Amino acid sequence: MSANPPASSSRYALGIDIGGTKLAVGVATPDGQLLLTDRIPTLAHEGPDAVINRLIDLCKKTVAKSQIPWDQFVVGVACVGPLDADRGLIQNPANLPGWHDIPLIARLQEAFHAPTFLENDANAAALGEFLFGAGRGTRNMVYLTISTGIGGGAILDGKLYRGENGNAAEIGHTTVLYNGRLCNCGNLGCLEAYCSGTHIAARAREAIQAGASSLILQLAGSPDKITTRHILEALKQSDSFAQSFWAETMSILGAGLCNVIHNFNPRRIVLGGGVTHAGDLLFIPVRRETYRRAMKPLADVCDIVPATLGDDVGIYGALAVALQRV
Ligand SMILES: [Zn+2]
Repeated sequence: MSANPPASSSRYALGIDIGGTKLAVGVATPDGQLLLTDRIPTLAHEGPDAVINRLIDLCKKTVAKSQIPWDQFVVGVACVGPLDADRGLIQNPANLPGWHDIPLIARLQEAFHAPTFLENDANAAALGEFLFGAGRGTRNMVYLTISTGIGGGAILDGKLYRGENGNAAEIGHTTVLYNGRLCNCGNLGCLEAYCSGTHIAARAREAIQAGASSLILQLAGSPDKITTRHILEALKQSDSFAQSFWAETMSILGAGLCNVIHNFNPRRIVLGGGVTHAGDLLFIPVRRETYRRAMKPLADVCDIVPATLGDDVGIYGALAVALQRV
C-alpha cells in the first residue's frame, strides 16, 4: 500500500500501537511501504513497567529482524488517552490501569535513541486513513471512529490539526441536544451519548424497560444483554420499534456529521469503528440525514465513506504519526 501524499521522510518508520488488549509494532520504508509487523498481548494488569519493558523488547526484536540500523528510524506511538502528546505522558487511560502520568516517550527515547512522537489513538487513526486508507487523495478530511465511544481526528490542509494541546476534533463530545443525555465526559447531550455503540444499546434498553415492545428483547434474551447487533438484526426483520429507533439514531448521527461539515468544510468524512460494520444500514440513512441538514455548497463537496484500514488502523496510524513528523 503506498502512502499519499508521498512522505518526504528519509527515515524508516517504527509504528507502535498501544491498546488495552494488544501491543502492535510495524516497520515501514520512508515512502510508507509496510515491511513487517508483530504483536503481543498487552497484559495490562501487570502495570506500566512490565508492559513498557515487554514493548521495548518487541520493538528491538522487530527492528533487528528488519536489519535497518536504529539511527535511520523515527518512531510514532498511537496510544489510548487521555494523554499529553507534547509532553509524551500517558495520563490514566481506563484500560491501562496504573498508568498515572507515565513518561512513555522519554522511556522509549532512552531505549531506542530515536526521535519518538505520540498521538492519541483517534488522531493517529485519522492520519493513518489519510496517508494509507480512505482519505488518500484529499487535503481536508475528518475521521470518526464509532465504537464503544466516538473518537475523531481532523486533517486540515494536509496536516493533522492538533489544537492547543493535542486534543482537537473531539467530535464525540460535540453537543447535539443542548439539554440531553448525560455523557461520560460530564457534559449533556454529546453525540457520543446517543450514537456510540454503548449508548445506542443503553438507549434501546431504556426504551424497552420503559415498555416499548420489540423483537430486540427476544434476540438479546434480557435487557442488559442488548447490543447494536441485536438492534440491527431486528431492523433487518422489519421490527417497527427497531425501525423508528434506528431512524432516530441516524438522524442524530446526521446532525453530528452536519456539525462536522459546517465546522471543517472537509472533502471527505471517513467513518470507522464497530458500529459502522452495519454497512449500508448506517451509511445510506446517515448520508441522507447529513446532506438534508448541511448547507449545500459545503455538502456538495463532501463525501461520507467507510474507513478501509479495519483492524490495522492502529499500526498504520502509528506509522503515519512517525512519517508526518519528519
Ligand atoms: Zn461527552
